[in-house]
Amino acid sequence: MKQLLTVLGSTGSIGVSTLDVIARHPQRYQVYALTANRQVDVMLSQCLACQPQFAVMRDSDAAQQLHLKLASAGSETQVLSGEEGLIQVSSAQPVHAVMAAIVGAAGLAPTLAAVQAGKKVLLANKESLVMAGGLFMQAVVDHDATLLPIDSEHNAIFQCLPQNYRSIEAAGIRRILLTGSGGPFRQTPVSELANVTPDQACAHPNWSMGRKISVDSATMMNKGLEFVEACWLFDATPDQIEVVVHPQSVIHSMVEYADGSVLAQMGNPDMRTPIAHAMAWPERIDSGVASLDFMAVSRLDFEAPSFERFPGLRLSVESARAGGVMPAILNAANEVAVDAFLSERIGFTDIPRIIEDVLGRSKNVEPVNLSVVKEVDAQARQMARERLESL
Ligand code: NAD
Ligand code: MG
Repeated sequence: MKQLLTVLGSTGSIGVSTLDVIARHPQRYQVYALTANRQVDVMLSQCLACQPQFAVMRDSDAAQQLHLKLASAGSETQVLSGEEGLIQVSSAQPVHAVMAAIVGAAGLAPTLAAVQAGKKVLLANKESLVMAGGLFMQAVVDHDATLLPIDSEHNAIFQCLPQNYRSIEAAGIRRILLTGSGGPFRQTPVSELANVTPDQACAHPNWSMGRKISVDSATMMNKGLEFVEACWLFDATPDQIEVVVHPQSVIHSMVEYADGSVLAQMGNPDMRTPIAHAMAWPERIDSGVASLDFMAVSRLDFEAPSFERFPGLRLSVESARAGGVMPAILNAANEVAVDAFLSERIGFTDIPRIIEDVLGRSKNVEPVNLSVVKEVDAQARQMARERLESL
């Protein structure tokens, strides 16, 4: 029987790679629903190619436009809108698996809805775990959902763990080594960072990604968010995870065991590998990714990350140690700051400055339920906006 998939964020970088893998296996997968924010034309062509039952546009004007265009093309795809539409298609009864690839905090509600419906959830939206990791992981257990990491590092770690993984201790793990390329500014003089442009920040040396995560990679906030994500996914403490800068992005992360063995997962930096891995798990399918050419790679380099160059990484590790709502505050302030940087309202080095300021002015509480998380998120965004107005 074919597996029915909902792809949340289908018009984005991960969404497009997911549809590429699906198209390679028409006997195995069928698209149930596609979703996007407002990219009507990309969504129109995706709908005509995949013929999903539903297409959801977060934005209602975009939904209306899509509806008219699909109707005149004779398509039977039904158009829904808003967060309700996203939740409907991520929790619908016939759906087997949900690719959670919306960017940012907007991904939390529909991703959590998929978990609460007991789906197989392929998690790219790391912000869900950074914001509400405890509630999210509890919901996975309560609703017997299957959670598979798409983030290449976490997918790599998952592949290096024993099949029946329960805990770091039971598996005999010494540490998790979270690798990161160091982004486009790994060697840029620190004094020049204040003047880099959004396009320079988005020109990642190894990966092609959406603009928000590309800026996060340049500040290494992405590694910081992934640090928090890894703590939740693998039930690890901050002391059990170490960040290693590895500029070639060939090793996607590693796990070191008590006997000194280090297992690494390697491959070309192409998100179709973790996507295909999670889609087919525990089987393996073709992803379209070329074989790794070891002779062309020829060497693998490693270095320690610099907290001076990447203050966002330090702030993330500190927020992971503090726990509570601090990672949610970090994430909210980062989203506002990255947005302001991308629209050229603030400089690159203002991003961690704003985050540090918001964290310093916030009170830590326990995220006992989703409304606490949402409230804290809204307050942190407000504080970040005020701070950037004052720059
Ligand atoms: P992207 O910007 O390319 O695409 C984002 C998608 O989300 C688009 O389809 C967009 O329409 C949709 N979207 C944006 N705002 C929305 C909103 N308010 N409501 C509903 N939908 C909305 O982003 P991406 O690079 O594909 O990243 C998606 C997620 O995957 C992020 O959480 C990112 O951290 C994670 N991720 C991405 C990569 C990568 O290689 N791109 C790697 C690892 C993890
Ligand atoms: Mg990653």
